[in-house]
Amino acid sequence: MSFSKALMTKFRLAGLSSISQIRLNAARCFSTSMSLQSLEPGTGTINSLRCFTEEENMMRDAVSKFARTVVAPKVSEMDENEKIDPVVLNGLFEQGFMGVETPSELGGTGASFTSAVIVIEELAKIDGSISVVCDVQNTLVNTVFRKYASNELKEKYLPQLAESKVGCFCLSEAGSGSDAFALKTKAEKKDDYWVLNGSKMWITNSNEAEIFLVFANVDPSKGYKGITCFVVEKEMGVKIMKKEKKLGIRASSTCSLNFEDIKVPQSNVLGEVGKGYKIAIEILNEGRIGIAAQMLGIAQGAFDYTLPYLFQRKQFGSEIGNFQGMQHQYAQIATEIEAARLLTYNAARLKEEGVTNFAMEAAMAKLYTSQVAERATSRCVEWLGGVGFTREFPVEKFYRDCKIGAIYEGTSNIQLSTIAKHISSIYK
Ligand SMILES: Cc1cc2nc3c(=O)[nH]c(=O)nc-3n(C[C@H](O)[C@H](O)[C@H](O)COP(=O)(O)OP(=O)(O)OC[C@H]3O[C@@H](n4cnc5c(N)ncnc54)[C@H](O)[C@@H]3O)c2cc1C
Repeated sequence: MSFSKALMTKFRLAGLSSISQIRLNAARCFSTSMSLQSLEPGTGTINSLRCFTEEENMMRDAVSKFARTVVAPKVSEMDENEKIDPVVLNGLFEQGFMGVETPSELGGTGASFTSAVIVIEELAKIDGSISVVCDVQNTLVNTVFRKYASNELKEKYLPQLAESKVGCFCLSEAGSGSDAFALKTKAEKKDDYWVLNGSKMWITNSNEAEIFLVFANVDPSKGYKGITCFVVEKEMGVKIMKKEKKLGIRASSTCSLNFEDIKVPQSNVLGEVGKGYKIAIEILNEGRIGIAAQMLGIAQGAFDYTLPYLFQRKQFGSEIGNFQGMQHQYAQIATEIEAARLLTYNAARLKEEGVTNFAMEAAMAKLYTSQVAERATSRCVEWLGGVGFTREFPVEKFYRDCKIGAIYEGTSNIQLSTIAKHISSIYK
């Protein structure tokens, strides 16, 4: 039994079905003009965002150990080869990290959303690529099944996704990125099945995937209200086309896909016909907290790697970390990483508390953590001097890997638009 599954068994024996039974509060427990959904005064214990349950701490220890012992020795090779090592991928499944929130009855770990965030963050401290493999599986694919699928689809696919099969989330197309609902992939109804035609672009995990969540329009005359989510298996005929050669997160595959007359059974419509747009919007709000955790992990990973060097390297007869010009820089970055951490964990706790509208906080967390990751990794390259610029040291990789945080699951401009929409609805 994997460490994380054994952990859940222990908690179940203690009478706790999940960590959500141990309430930790998000920082919205007071009333300000911007906290529209403030909690009743006096409810729950007010904890700092540094408070984690015993189970979450144990999950962090387990994933951190896995990242240091199994992932770290392969990071450079996977980056050079632009391919995930099968030992690492199998390890993610064996350890229960690919089905963090999936109930144990369906083969998962049965842990909380914050536990998933912890897994993504800890993996990113070592490798942003492995982190996003796990992030897409947990925060997008599994969550779509858990929240919207029929019991039949849940029972069929969630165990496979927790135990051995990679899934991917297929929304973007060549002509529809930020304007995602302009997608052109079509689904046509025939008897008791649908016929899918079209193509997708930029699909994370698609080279390894066997299960594809595909968004297609069943009636383009209805615009976004025709968009529907289908569960498509690779063997139904998905063609994996070009694999992108990327600046960063190279070990995570990103490919184009083609669907030519693919027959999808009626029972593989996920959720309601015409409600795919709602699934995509809602799921990306959660997904953005996962990307924030990835960015937070990358920033912290680069910082943790670099700081000891500042107290080993001497110039002008002194450790370089003792120069005030350096102290002010690392103090500033440490403060920004702390702020990024608070935004990320606050968004995660809000979601866990069942606050319905956490879209603004999720957008803020993704926007800010991606900015902090860029600044932190860039500074770390500089602080290492010449060696920071070489591939002998992992910091240049952290620098490359974080750039994607400003692009996928909504660019930074799209996050700003989301935040502005919420702010204007409060003050208008
Ligand atoms: C490595 C990688 C992995 C990905 N994984 C997935 C995946 O698994 N599944 C999936 O479906 N997609 C995935 N994507 C796609 C990703 O979500 C899109 O690339 C992203 O949404 C941006 O779309 P675009 O590339 O078409 O850029 P565009 O939408 O063309 O944007 C280009 C620029 O214009 C700006 N812009 C566009 N519209 C506006 C506006 N209204 N206001 C202000 N500025 C605007 C953007 O901010 C950006 O700076 C991935 C992309 C990459 C690079």
